[in-house]
This record gives sequence, structure tokens and C-alpha cells, in this order.
Amino acid sequence: MLIGSHVSFGKKQLLGSVQEAISYGANTFMFYTGAPQNTMRQKIDEELLKEAQDLMIKEGIDIKKVICHAPYIINLANNKDLEKWQFSQNFLKQELSRCDELNVSFLVLHPGSAVGLEKTEALNNISLALNNILSNNYKCQILLETMAGKGTECGSSLEEIKYIIDHVNYNIGVCIDTCHLNDAGYKMQNFKEFLAIVEKIIGIDKIKCVHLNDSKNVLASHKDRHANIGYGTIGFDNLLNICYEEKLKDVPKILETPYVGQTWEDKTKIYPPYKFEIEMLKNKKFNQNLLEDINNYYNK
Ligand code: FE
Ligand code: FE
Ligand code: ZN
Repeated sequence: MLIGSHVSFGKKQLLGSVQEAISYGANTFMFYTGAPQNTMRQKIDEELLKEAQDLMIKEGIDIKKVICHAPYIINLANNKDLEKWQFSQNFLKQELSRCDELNVSFLVLHPGSAVGLEKTEALNNISLALNNILSNNYKCQILLETMAGKGTECGSSLEEIKYIIDHVNYNIGVCIDTCHLNDAGYKMQNFKEFLAIVEKIIGIDKIKCVHLNDSKNVLASHKDRHANIGYGTIGFDNLLNICYEEKLKDVPKILETPYVGQTWEDKTKIYPPYKFEIEMLKNKKFNQNLLEDINNYYNK
């Protein structure tokens, strides 16, 4: 099973990401090349990269399964402000080049938000932008993430994802996010049935990454608030099922669950839950004392 979480990419760049992933007992990971909410990026350091690569080889982490996530302020769907639309495209080109430099094969992208445009127009903008960007022939492949349908988000149905795939002349893949799918109205409690729908519409082989998250909200709520594994409306057994699904066995599962504080209500979310969530999934056993275990571990 390929399992990891979202990790940071700071001063030590990819080396820091790899070290963080190892500290969680992960064998893969996902990172942003800088803060997810802005587009300030540092130049890639060759020496740190070499060290990161050596460490990955030593630890048996396959760089081909490592995922990068584009910042979520990028919006390819709306072209009302042409300058902003161009900026998003140029930034994505740089991001894909960075991934090529790092030897990372997949870049997860939120399709974008229509904000005031018709849905079809927005989907056409996304396709147009992707055709422009991908004409530069990158090794790294873009994965469209399935969205919760919050606000005017595009890509909250498999049909919308399929529409973009069909209108882009290059090979793009898909990242399914279990929290987003639940919030968009797809029952994760019957994953076999969901995969049958995927097969009919876009093909299971298009799925190159799974974001494994529980959800704080009910089916079709269109909210997008992630919950810790087994502490949301999808539930531990259903997430475990998805994790061990034979048809997705070579697809990395990435946790993007929230950090925790001293209590569940505590707003100062300082501790990463990933080491203990990964442990639960590996042991196939729900941990009722997740919060206490995390606090004990990081408090010492
Ligand atoms: Fe995402
Ligand atoms: Fe996600
Ligand atoms: Zn989300």
C-alpha cells in the first residue's frame, strides 16, 4: 500500500519533505513547492535535491509516486481579468518545469471556479488554458482534482472532469478526494459502485492519486471541510476499504486531514495527525485515542 500525507516544502526543500514523510512512517508524500496560498517560490537547490534523492532511494520511496499540488489561488476557469488568467497559466508552466526539475511525475490541480461565468464557459476556459500550457511538453502530468462543489467550483462531478479531459489534447489524469466526493454527493460508503461509475465515465486508469480524507459534513453538503480518519461522516471502515481497493493498489493515498490541538475543540491546531492515522490504516484498526496519542507523542 502506498500511503503518505501532505508535507511541507520549506528551507530544506524536497529533503525536508522526505524527512517529514519518513517521520510519519509514510512511503510516499505530497508537497506544495511553496505556501499553497501564494505563488512565491524559491529556486531549486541542486545539492539539497541530490540529498533528497539519495534519502528516497535508501528509504524505498519511489519518486514516480510522489505528488506535487499546485497552489489553490490558481484559477484557469475565469478569464474576465485576462491578466490574472494569464498569470495563472504562466505560474502553472513554471510549476510544471519545477516538477520536471525535481523529477516529480504528477501535479494536482483544482480545476478552478467559474465566478460569474456560465459553467460551460468556465470549463472551456480551463480546457483552453490547459491546451496552451501543455503545448510546452512537460514530463510531469496534470491531475484534475474532484471538488466538493463549494461556491462556483468546477469539477464537482465526474461529467465535468470528463468534459475537460475530452477537450484537452494532452494526456491528463485525475486525483479523487474522498472528502470532496462525499460533499459533492458521491457515496464513499459504496466504493465499488463509485468505481463502476468512474469506469463508465472516465476510466479507473485515469486515477493517479487518492486524497484520503474523512469529511466533517454530510453527503452532498458542498462544504469541503476535512475530518481526521474515522472521525467524520465517511467513517473508518469505508476509508480503509478505499485504501486497500485492489484496483487502486498502485495509486498513492495521501492524507490531508487537519492538524489537532489539545482537545478536538482547541483552535490552535499544532500537531500533525499523520503518523497515527497511517498507523491505523496499516494496522487496519481504528484508534479511539487518536487525539491523546498524538498529544503524548509530540508533547514529550
Ligand atoms: Fe486539493
Ligand atoms: Fe484534496
Ligand atoms: Zn479539500
